[in-house]
Amino acid sequence: MKSRRPFIAGNWKMHLGRSQAVELARRVKEVAAGLVQVDVALAPPFVWLEAVGRELQGSSVRLAAQNCHFEPQGAFTGEVAAEMLKDAGCRHVIIGHSERRQYFGESDELINRKVHAALRAGLEPILCVGEKLEEREAGKTLSVVERQVKAALDKVPGEKAALITIAYEPVWAIGTGRNATPKQAQQVHAHIRSLLEEHFGQAAQQMRIQYGGSVKPENIGELMACADIDGALVGGASLKADSFAGILSLGR
Ligand code: PEP
Repeated sequence: MKSRRPFIAGNWKMHLGRSQAVELARRVKEVAAGLVQVDVALAPPFVWLEAVGRELQGSSVRLAAQNCHFEPQGAFTGEVAAEMLKDAGCRHVIIGHSERRQYFGESDELINRKVHAALRAGLEPILCVGEKLEEREAGKTLSVVERQVKAALDKVPGEKAALITIAYEPVWAIGTGRNATPKQAQQVHAHIRSLLEEHFGQAAQQMRIQYGGSVKPENIGELMACADIDGALVGGASLKADSFAGILSLGR
């Protein structure tokens, strides 16, 4: 029996109009009200954070942003500071998603700056790491993930451990319908746990490591049965209330 409380987050990416976003939040709020054994977060596009946050008020569902800038303010057209997200009611921020790394050129160093920025602002980062298909095929999965974790957590002090969630998301499994097998995922999660132990010591035992990549109601149960999988970061299946509700039930 794991002592870590499961944590499921829905990443809506660049999907949903305002009324759809609010309606989906309303339905997730209703489902989450009946679930005491799982933490739930929703990450809508920036422009719907306030509206979704309003809908979630008084519920247990947490508000998350999908990205942040590393400076608290300044001449950075089109960017949003972690402090602004905190002010808008966010509790979490996703950092280093593979789509940010791939399409927006985010480096390990930039991601480290964003992790520090989020913590400085009082946000709880969901830090994404994961290998590309060619890296897995070349047998580099563990070394790639190790580089990403170590770089992102550089100079993050021990007392911040409890605020950080790691999301292991193999790039080849995101939005492809092809999830990692529980065995493949557990191997990487165990490695991440050992890296967290090196960095944070005993506190690593309480840190949550989510799996992400084509999670659905049909596979969440077998993933959650793994010793080091503590929840999920969900893309596509978080866009429909029914499928997200199925995932929130953790396959039970
Ligand atoms: C994601 O974007 O973080 C993700 C895991 O997407 P999907 O669930 O659609 O694979």
